[in-house]
Amino acid sequence: MAQTTPNHTQTVSGWAAHDTSGKITPYIFKRRENGVNDVTIEILYCGICHTDLHQVRNDWGITMYPIVPGHEITGLITKVGSNVKGFKVGDKVGVGCLAASCLDCEFCNSSQENYCDQVQFTYNGIFWDGSITYGGYSKMLVADHRYVVHIPENLAMDAAAPLLCAGITVFCPMKDNNLVGGAMRKKVGIVGLGGLGHVAVKFAKAFGHHVTVISTSPSKQNEAKARLGADDFIVSTDDQQMQQARRSLDFILDTVSANHSLGPILELLKVNGTLVFVGAPEKPIELPSFPLIFGKRVVKGSMIGGMRETQEMMDICGKHNITCDIEVIRPDNINEAMDRLVRNDVRYRFVIDIAGNSSN
Ligand code: NAP
Ligand code: ZN
Repeated sequence: MAQTTPNHTQTVSGWAAHDTSGKITPYIFKRRENGVNDVTIEILYCGICHTDLHQVRNDWGITMYPIVPGHEITGLITKVGSNVKGFKVGDKVGVGCLAASCLDCEFCNSSQENYCDQVQFTYNGIFWDGSITYGGYSKMLVADHRYVVHIPENLAMDAAAPLLCAGITVFCPMKDNNLVGGAMRKKVGIVGLGGLGHVAVKFAKAFGHHVTVISTSPSKQNEAKARLGADDFIVSTDDQQMQQARRSLDFILDTVSANHSLGPILELLKVNGTLVFVGAPEKPIELPSFPLIFGKRVVKGSMIGGMRETQEMMDICGKHNITCDIEVIRPDNINEAMDRLVRNDVRYRFVIDIAGNSSN
């Protein structure tokens, strides 16, 4: 493992955290030359995912400092390698969480690269050449084209950026559970109305379902219904509301970033219902057995998505004109934005204007 290798000759400016304080400061580093399978991307925007916050503070105990976070990247291609098919200079593209995988296992062969045992991420990963990967809080990225997607022409590059992680993370479990393109209208619950949760509400509505938001924030109720289109809103700390909704939902997607018990949430599922957990709190989640066994309920996990599904999700977003509700910030304000993210004070995703194009 090395921070750079001899082919890392390109100097890039970015922003990095250097210790568990998570404080982000400007950081100059090197990226590899554009290889035959690579594209070089001028980064325009990068979303701030809650995962960035977990990682800069080493919540999961796996952070390699200095860390340049960012895996919700949109930008323009400035260079293409000689083996690259399907991309050209000037294309609007996106890069999410994946930087490399083995390209040879059953998962890579079925475009579920995200479940490859050797998967490496866009930041805090180890690339094929042995270097540590640095993410999208930076001006430029060299990415293998097999982990790059096209952004539909009608989508704004800033509001599309969070689709690269938040979007695909909530799309895949919906697809896996036959909630995309099916004829059946289901009762879907979304727990946690944050970056992931608000896109999940938009998707579930676009796919024709009845959507209930389960939230700790009563202040989000009006917006959830009027702006995002949710049908119902349950305040999860209100026992009476939780009781009234018992056994009412077919499917629940839990996007909460902090520790909480799954017991009361499972009670909201019908018999045979499924809960998919995508949040990643640092401590084990509480999973009591009674709500599981009395309702023959299923609890599953899901991690982002493969590249084919990421492009599929992007194209669906283009068709339905779905983007994220964002607050655009300047790179100088990353620390303030992260502090606000800790306080659950964002509607619903911060996006960094890396290239300085926004009028904000
Ligand atoms: P976020 O924008 O901070 O949203 C999380 C939401 O969880 C908050 O808006 C809040 O919603 C709810 N919440 C926060 N603290 C809570 C608490 N103590 N108890 C109950 N609810 C609480 O975060 P995000 O970017 O959507 O990410 C959510 C989680 O998913 C993170 O842990 C992240 O690392 C993980 N993640 C996983 C994957 C994957 O592949 N599985 C991909 C990306 C992210 P309310 O105000 O509505 O309660
Ligand atoms: Zn993310």
